[in-house]
Amino acid sequence: MDEKFAWIEEELALLEKQGLRIDIRTIGSACGAWMIVDGKRVLNFCTNNYLGLANDPRLKSAAQAAVDQWGAGPAAVRSIAGTLELHRTLEQRLAAFKGVEDALYVQSGFCANQAAIPALAGKEDVIFTDRLNHASIIDGCRLSSAKVVVYEHCDVSDFARKIHENLGHYRRAMLVTDGVFSMDGDMAPLDRLFELCEQHGIMTMVDDAHGEGVVGRGGRGIVDHFGLNGKFDLEIGTLSKAFGVVGGVIAGKKILIDWIRQKARPFLFSSAVTAADTAACLTAVDILEEGTSLVDSLWENTRYFKEAIKAAGFDTGASVTPITPIMVGDATLCRTFSRALFESAPGIFAMPIGFPTVPQGKARIRVMLSAAHSRQDLDYGLETFARLGKKLGILQ
Ligand SMILES: *Cc1c(COP(=O)(O)O)cnc(C)c1O
Repeated sequence: MDEKFAWIEEELALLEKQGLRIDIRTIGSACGAWMIVDGKRVLNFCTNNYLGLANDPRLKSAAQAAVDQWGAGPAAVRSIAGTLELHRTLEQRLAAFKGVEDALYVQSGFCANQAAIPALAGKEDVIFTDRLNHASIIDGCRLSSAKVVVYEHCDVSDFARKIHENLGHYRRAMLVTDGVFSMDGDMAPLDRLFELCEQHGIMTMVDDAHGEGVVGRGGRGIVDHFGLNGKFDLEIGTLSKAFGVVGGVIAGKKILIDWIRQKARPFLFSSAVTAADTAACLTAVDILEEGTSLVDSLWENTRYFKEAIKAAGFDTGASVTPITPIMVGDATLCRTFSRALFESAPGIFAMPIGFPTVPQGKARIRVMLSAAHSRQDLDYGLETFARLGKKLGILQ
């Protein structure tokens, strides 16, 4: 072995010992309620395919037709020659769906935070950010060079305190929070955060990656859930979760979108999303605008599964959304539980989540519910969780 990399061997061995080394599974089928994972057919509780759109025939035909019309790739960044009519159409449709003035479609939700935050805050500014914000927000804040002030998770009084301690020392201020938190499934108290920001002239930004297509009227997201339509400055979203495809969106007031289009580096220096993806996203917007049946089934499944899993004795933490953490605590036990679920017949695919994604000692299995699950799928999942939970001593 190359001596230069001995430190990596040691670090990897340590991760293995702590039960924190990530097992990366390989998928051998399209994404649905059931999938082929590492060659085995399993019930899927892992993906963010909230509405089952990832393998929807309508999205697939839209993508196929777009390849025929527009080709495989745009071969340019959007600011040079990569902005297709389709990209603009999708942006206008997303803006209309969310009830905001304008939107910008970028390569991913991760990119959307890298694009928006550094464009809006610099080293003379302060960003207030929730302790449990997503990694892409954390990195976006770092890239901005602004002073980052972390307030305790969803703690409005701590936010108020941090405003008073810091506001006078900086040129401008901005709030950034996840809407729905991806590991706990709880929601930011957006109304109360907004009120404080209004009082102090603080710019407001929410990352609604897990809220779009899930919460709000017909899946219009967390801003809609709190009735703050048209008031909130900026919403970040992803087209890779409920929308079932790929890409990120920055939506909000036109002046901000105009500015971000001029300044955002992932937009200016990285190629556009393909026509196939964009067309599939457009069809997803059509489906969401046509009716609420997928969003309704998602919530029906969520209520059914959560009530039953709690009745079986599991702790699902603070979740109020289809993200259902099943608390285990110890990372090694959690990984054993996940492996046992996978090995059962038929197997269940539900990932263990440990440090550093969640705090030490708070390892959990995260169950992601979907409109794609049938009642029978959920019952099989519930039965298997209870049986193995007892066997491993997680349930009494
Ligand atoms: C998933 C997620 C992202 C990343 O979205 P991608 O489109 O997969 O890059 C960003 N922010 C939050 C809060 C997320 O949950």
